Amino acid sequence: MWKLKSCPRCKGDMLINEDMDGWYEQCLQCSCRHELKELAKSKEQFVLAGEKRAKSDV
Ligand SMILES: [Zn+2]
Repeated sequence: MWKLKSCPRCKGDMLINEDMDGWYEQCLQCSCRHELKELAKSKEQFVLAGEKRAKSDV
């Protein structure tokens, strides 16, 4: 997953990735990196919502 020109330091392109601590984004240009706790949370909610919808369809 990519976020173009979203680096707070150099406006470079950031790559969104996941490790043991959760999601983070890292800049390709300056290597600055920060965690994305909000994204991890919203992904969880998205999965839960999808499960609910799948069950109600049956
Ligand atoms: Zn950068």
